[in-house]
Amino acid sequence: MTGQSTSERVRYPEFEARHPWLVRLLDAYHLSDEAVRADLAEQTALRGRSVACGPGCRNCCVDQVIPVSEFEVLGLWWYASEILEGQIQEELKQRLLGHGQVGECAFLVGGRCSVYPVRPFVCRQYYVFSKPCGPGENVYETRFKDAYRAGLDSARDLAWQLIPLYGVAEENVDWLFESGYISRKGKHLHTLPLDNIVMHMKTAAHLRKARNA
Ligand code: SF4
Ligand code: SF4
Repeated sequence: MTGQSTSERVRYPEFEARHPWLVRLLDAYHLSDEAVRADLAEQTALRGRSVACGPGCRNCCVDQVIPVSEFEVLGLWWYASEILEGQIQEELKQRLLGHGQVGECAFLVGGRCSVYPVRPFVCRQYYVFSKPCGPGENVYETRFKDAYRAGLDSARDLAWQLIPLYGVAEENVDWLFESGYISRKGKHLHTLPLDNIVMHMKTAAHLRKARNA
């Protein structure tokens, strides 16, 4: 959604030193991005059609169900509070408080994803071939052949990063993955109390100010 990713893993040393879950989440996102990048290149050649997604394209950020695990939500929460600042953070606050366009993802600010480096997996793996999605179009229904479908190996790599965060022993990761553990742990992003992030933004700003005083 809203453009392809870069190949570099994003790094936030100060925060990664404090939050082990963040290291795993960013590793998992990077693995996912790399797997998708390789897949897209292969499928572009096989299908003889180009990926239609690009910067500024955003119909996929409107009227969509976004399933997320709690660690993906934590990533959004952290990024919005600790990394975003200035006008973009102010605009995001308004959207999180429910003042955005009906149907648009709350994190879409000024037509772009405001949390792009930590956008959820489903957003990182949603690509379409041939031509951009129309408003309200669900390509799985309208032109299934143009929908990109992420490979199972990439999903298994992700499981190895994320399932241990739930306190699961490594020997249990494979069978839990096969049983759909991550999906069962998921929630729909826009059914969560996202306005709580605004309160956390204010607390984080207050703490930063106190630290810098
Ligand atoms: S988090 Fe929202 S704005 Fe960002 S890519 Fe996903 S749907 Fe779009
Ligand atoms: S083509 Fe569709 S999936 Fe790709 S960025 Fe545009 S709206 Fe999103």
